[in-house]
Amino acid sequence: MLRKVALEEHFAIPETMEGALLYGRDSPSVLGIPERLLDMMDYRLMEMDENGIELTILSLNSPAIQEIYKVPDAIETARIANDRLAETVEKRRTRFRGFAALPMQDPEAAILELRRAVTELGMLGVLVNGFSQIDSPDNDVYLDDRRYDPFWSELQKLDVPFYLHPREPMPGNVKMLENHYWLHGAAWAFGVDTSTHALRMMSSGIFDRYPRLKLLIGHLGEGLPFLVWRCDNMLSKRKRGMPAKHLMAYYMNKNVWVTTSGQFHTPPLICTMLQMGADRILFSTDYPFEEISDASNWFDACPISESDKRKIGRQNAIDLFKLDIR
Ligand code: MN
Repeated sequence: MLRKVALEEHFAIPETMEGALLYGRDSPSVLGIPERLLDMMDYRLMEMDENGIELTILSLNSPAIQEIYKVPDAIETARIANDRLAETVEKRRTRFRGFAALPMQDPEAAILELRRAVTELGMLGVLVNGFSQIDSPDNDVYLDDRRYDPFWSELQKLDVPFYLHPREPMPGNVKMLENHYWLHGAAWAFGVDTSTHALRMMSSGIFDRYPRLKLLIGHLGEGLPFLVWRCDNMLSKRKRGMPAKHLMAYYMNKNVWVTTSGQFHTPPLICTMLQMGADRILFSTDYPFEEISDASNWFDACPISESDKRKIGRQNAIDLFKLDIR
């Protein structure tokens, strides 16, 4: 069994559980999704051991902080979640590390919590669940908004990765899925919102202003490795006011890393390797919304070179997060 590091692995605290329940489903596990989200130790360690996961970088569930539109509550809940995660990591630092949850509703508060999480709590990066609702449920703000420039500046200074994780798009943005509820969530809507969000970030010039930012995208890049050539082909012919200096593939190959979370299939992995290279792909599962065993059984037997498997399975994570493991 291959030794692996996994980094789209979720937990919840009781305060953020409600949103996670929307994405629950039947599971072969003896524990349900809520129980596995709340368990930060015993059951999770058992599943990690059974599947060769030596280290897990934990992150809060989706949408969690990003849907708490009352700004003081978002700030408070992020602090509670980060403190609780830090306690878990403290107990088992050889097996667990953490991504900070951040109240992006208030960029200044997000900067303060980012600093605290990285420098005091030892978080290895940030995981944010897409757009944030701010002050009212209907006000969704995406991360390319210029209010976030000071945040990107601070993130670049701290030199830690930013994981852009999916959430359900606002109802007005998924009118095309009307009466097709089965296509909401992870089946389709998550990927559309998140790939669009990543394109907004890249094309708006964030990575020109902050060229050392590191963006992580799950689910083998949410379709972008497959689709980016056509996007760039069109943008190269007509920029139509796009602020970014370069085409999207430039940023995909310079600022973006993708994980295998929830995409346990070899053809899209090969496409991603051809488009981005094996150095920019990291193993992940999306626990507990996916089974660690499904991810591991697929990856361990996947017909790619042993050298690429070692990189994707753990070495790229060691390099990207400067992990002190060998
Ligand atoms: Mn996930």
